[in-house]
Amino acid sequence: MNKNDIIELNITSLTSDGDGVGRAGETVFFVPNTAVGDTALVRVLKVKKNIAYGRVESIVTPSSDRIEPDCPVSLSCGGCVYRHISYEAELGAKRQKVIDAVTRIGKLDGSLVRDIVPSPRADGYRNKAMIPVGLNRAGEAVMGFYARHSHNIMPCIDCRLSPDIFNRITADFYGFIKERPGLIYTPAYRRGIRHLYLRYAESTGDVMVCVVAGAKRFEGDTELFDSLTEKYSAIKSIAVNINPDDTNVILGKKTYTVYGDDHITDTLCGLSFDISPQSFYQVNRAQAERLYSIAADYADLSGSETLLDLYCGTGTIGLSMADKCRALIGVEIIPEAIDNARRNAAQNGIANARFICADATAAADRLRAEGIRPDVVVVDPPRKGLTPELIDTIAGMNPDRVVYVSCDPATLARDLAIFTDKDYTLKEITPADMFPRTSHVENVALITRKLTSH
Ligand code: SAH
Repeated sequence: MNKNDIIELNITSLTSDGDGVGRAGETVFFVPNTAVGDTALVRVLKVKKNIAYGRVESIVTPSSDRIEPDCPVSLSCGGCVYRHISYEAELGAKRQKVIDAVTRIGKLDGSLVRDIVPSPRADGYRNKAMIPVGLNRAGEAVMGFYARHSHNIMPCIDCRLSPDIFNRITADFYGFIKERPGLIYTPAYRRGIRHLYLRYAESTGDVMVCVVAGAKRFEGDTELFDSLTEKYSAIKSIAVNINPDDTNVILGKKTYTVYGDDHITDTLCGLSFDISPQSFYQVNRAQAERLYSIAADYADLSGSETLLDLYCGTGTIGLSMADKCRALIGVEIIPEAIDNARRNAAQNGIANARFICADATAAADRLRAEGIRPDVVVVDPPRKGLTPELIDTIAGMNPDRVVYVSCDPATLARDLAIFTDKDYTLKEITPADMFPRTSHVENVALITRKLTSH
């Protein structure tokens, strides 16, 4: 088999990234934008021993999962990988991804994986968008999304995952920048505009517009902001974030509010949370409420417990349960997030919470040494999961229940296996689809202590 050969392939499964998998003799093929049950003509792009990568040339027999993608850039954009299959098929693929991780990596019982909780909406669910602004080869302004595995901007100002108001504001912003390509950031013009960053508080309808640029002012800024606020009464805050550095990190350190408040306010689980450009906030609000309610069911608090919320961000999970426990301790490494968490507790009248700004492993170790014995521990780490030392410390604190919220099934499965090697049992895992159409899937796992007495 050689590069550029065309072969016929049956797609029999999907990888955890959503690529189709098929076999040709001894070779396993990975082909994006295919569905289980497809027979496709595939162009060979790369062969490495028994593994090959291919691109669909045409579909011979379509899978019954297939639907017509309703976005013109979905096949090349790096965002959606499941826009060509039905939402039911996507949910099935995501649940299977979790079962595969639990059984193959964790060597645990796959039947503990419950049904996946569908997102209330599969489109328009994102309350945050960061839309890169750049120049194409012809020197014209482009706005859109990074193509898969690259930093080339795919022109697209009408994303299906964004609420309508984001697309309308983006279209107006694009109209402005199209006339002024000289204002766009390049390595030679570091004062230029780099991203349009939008956030939306669904409960109030309030919108924040943040322009990421190399400098605070750009030509025509006042007229642009005036016209936006005149047209959209929902815009309650406009900010400019300064990032002149040659880096992949989108936001710089300094943000100036140029119109309205420095934040917008949303409600989540009945509590109000301030959202500023730098603060973390769940992107799919309606589904975050479902996720937190599963976590609350698993935490099963009666009012007398000490609850430890590790990797707490702005405190949302712990604060949503604070009225059901005696004391809440939150731990988070980012100082701004801890400031937000403290302010969020105060403005919701929550007095039984304290927040520690530290690495979770170090903080848990210290709390254990101080004799703190939480009854329930919630963890919500980034993709890399927990450290073995932290799992050791948590187990050593003897909580009755550990609620593990995870955005990566592979590291979740790895960590669950470590818990089950100690005095803990995996009770169940509920996958929740926080990011429809993308390959990501969120999970909540309940881990309980084997012995009932301390
Ligand atoms: N539970 C929150 C945030 C989860 S995101 C929510 O639902 O909104 C994961 C959080 O872990 C981020 O806020 C990140 O800043 C924090 N984090 C990353 N590494 C950490 C570490 N070593 N110790 C403590 N917190 C960490």
